[in-house]
Amino acid sequence: SFEKWEINPSDLTFMKQLGSGQFGVVRLGKFRAKHKVAIKTVYEGAMSEEDFIEEAKIMMNLSHPNLVQLHGVCTQQRPIYIVTEFMENGCLLNYLRQRQGRLQKDALLSICEDVCEGMAYLEENHFIHRDLAARNCLVTEKNMVKVSDFGMTRYVLDDEYTSSTGSKFPVKWSPPEVFHFSKFSSKSDVWSFGVLMWEVFTEGRMPFENKSNAEVVDEISRGERLYRPSQASRLVYQIMYSCWHEVCCYASFFSQLLKI
Ligand code: ADP
Repeated sequence: SFEKWEINPSDLTFMKQLGSGQFGVVRLGKFRAKHKVAIKTVYEGAMSEEDFIEEAKIMMNLSHPNLVQLHGVCTQQRPIYIVTEFMENGCLLNYLRQRQGRLQKDALLSICEDVCEGMAYLEENHFIHRDLAARNCLVTEKNMVKVSDFGMTRYVLDDEYTSSTGSKFPVKWSPPEVFHFSKFSSKSDVWSFGVLMWEVFTEGRMPFENKSNAEVVDEISRGERLYRPSQASRLVYQIMYSCWHEVCCYASFFSQLLKI
């Protein structure tokens, strides 16, 4: 029933508000009075709409049990709507915080596995997320986790969010090549995945809690990393830590060479 990417707005009915984000308000709705969907209303001036609409055709073809499915867009009116799969249990970050002390270790690991599978699919399809974090994952009724908002930062019209020195830039989830040179890749997604694992095993704590973005840049550049959460076994910590290897460190590469 969702073959075409353009959805007729008269097929949608609006129900309660679910939240609001960078682009606008998200509401629960129904498609053809039957299927529950999430409908994102895009505020005027919040998004480079033409570029997004072009990309939406590609995003429609990304389909995996651990990705929040894009059903389609309504682009014939303003504001435009983005229609996606509805996720009963909302955003992963709140889910973790609301269940502090009540999630077993195997449940925490299973959350990481879900995200990992969605991300592996994105990498296979040469699609870079650019903003993977617990706040950008959603949880189903059956506590399955799906990755959301993939690639969407490219369409944000807000320098505070898109410039690496902006106050909303996700520095704490970014490797050095991203906060220095905006060099996004599947490897930089892996770095973010490690930070997401840390968020999961701390049950929703803020990484580098009391530090500013500038302090984090400094710390990471010196080789410091997030500590081992008490819920994470040595092995789990080894896995998240392995996501935080500096990949393009030419300086140390050349200094090694010069020692030969
Ligand atoms: P942001 O732009 O900050 O990433 P979103 O616009 O994606 O946030 O979403 C804002 C909030 O709306 C989320 O935190 C979540 O609570 C809710 N929400 C978004 N998408 C869905 C969905 N598909 N199903 C259920 N709730 C959703």
